[in-house]
Amino acid sequence: MSKTSPRHSTAMPIVPMKTAFKSAQGNERRFHVMAKPGGAKCNIDCQYCFYLHKENLLHQPKQPKMDDETLDAFIKSYIESQDGEQIVFSWQGGEPTLLGLDYFRKVVELQKKYQPKGTRIENDLQTNGILLNDEWCEFLHANNFLVGLSIDGPQELHDKYRKTRSGKPTFHLVMKAVEKLQQHQVRFNALVTVNRHNVKHPLEIYRFLTRELGVTYIQLAPVVEPNDFHTTAPQFWNEQMIPEMGSELAKPGHPMSVVTDWSVDPDDWGEFLSVMFVEWVNNDLGRVLVNLFETAVAQVMGKPSQLCITAEFCGKGLAIEHNGDVYSCDHYVYPEYKLSNIHDHTLNEMAFSTRQFTFGMAKRDSLPEYCKQCPYLKYCWGECPKNRLIKTPDGEQGLNYLCSGIRRFFDDTLPMLVGLSQILQQQNTK
Ligand code: SF4
Ligand code: SF4
Repeated sequence: MSKTSPRHSTAMPIVPMKTAFKSAQGNERRFHVMAKPGGAKCNIDCQYCFYLHKENLLHQPKQPKMDDETLDAFIKSYIESQDGEQIVFSWQGGEPTLLGLDYFRKVVELQKKYQPKGTRIENDLQTNGILLNDEWCEFLHANNFLVGLSIDGPQELHDKYRKTRSGKPTFHLVMKAVEKLQQHQVRFNALVTVNRHNVKHPLEIYRFLTRELGVTYIQLAPVVEPNDFHTTAPQFWNEQMIPEMGSELAKPGHPMSVVTDWSVDPDDWGEFLSVMFVEWVNNDLGRVLVNLFETAVAQVMGKPSQLCITAEFCGKGLAIEHNGDVYSCDHYVYPEYKLSNIHDHTLNEMAFSTRQFTFGMAKRDSLPEYCKQCPYLKYCWGECPKNRLIKTPDGEQGLNYLCSGIRRFFDDTLPMLVGLSQILQQQNTK
């Protein structure tokens, strides 16, 4: 890596900056932690999962579980680190429901124990939905959890990669979860993992979720996994193997491709976004939220990005594993990016350390010249550094694998985005 990149931060000790200590003025310092109290353990075996392999990589026990002392330390430290009125916990994995309902009852108790007056604690739970029964849904409703349900579209699209350990389909189980969530009025949104297969079907996915399931919030997450993601941390890739944009090796399907077979094709990703965007604008503007479209509209209006991936800097989304180890980001859970352990440093000390600061700044500071000259720079900012797997047409490293698709999306939609932002601005000034 020729420039400052997130990997340079790993050599630094954890030195808290001034912002790690609450200021007398009570300045709001925002960061978020994705908690994985059950480690990478899951009850299904999705082929494209970016997290299952952590069982081996991090030498996790057979049944990883954040113990009481660590859970207490995490909840206390996280609450103490948040300045705002709203404190949002996010529970993920692996599959967090494998820990059982009593585990989450304990979570809520601990949150109440440490909750300061005048604050509001909220919980998000990302799940495959398979274990959600009446009892779970009663609890989720009573405690106002927001559920992120993984669903990749209608049956044929969902079942392509989301299978049980014995290779059986899971769509019917997810549909049962939808039914239970709706019956118990649990708030939920759909997390769609866009892969090489379902990327060809944007309208089927969108119409299925919004019209058949009545989903009003959709999160789109493109699958981009380098071939060696099981063992190699981002930015530690073999530089000799990095292909140039447009090369056959910079797409899925080639035996020597830089990405896995199930990764999304970058050009298909652009087409997918453009087609879904038009469907959304024509039918559901203001009624259905799609994470990438919402932030694009906001950014065109001159507002800050709502997502780390399209922000100028990042580093405000840490991850904590079952044993209390804290990492720079959910997508950087590799030994090279471990910050410290919750029993050794507070979350504030880690989140506002010079090492984490450098990690976050590198999102902008490591951009290749091609991005700096890009007309869409202020809406994209080189997308997520973990996807900067390819070289620019003039051979510079650090270009995002999805670049051609992102450009295609903005080529197609920028006039509409500008029109939308003007309408919204006029409405706001009335
Ligand atoms: S590395 Fe990627 S996912 Fe992680 S905080 Fe930065 S932009 Fe977000
Ligand atoms: S669209 Fe491509 S060139 Fe432009 S900022 Fe994003 S990754 Fe860089």
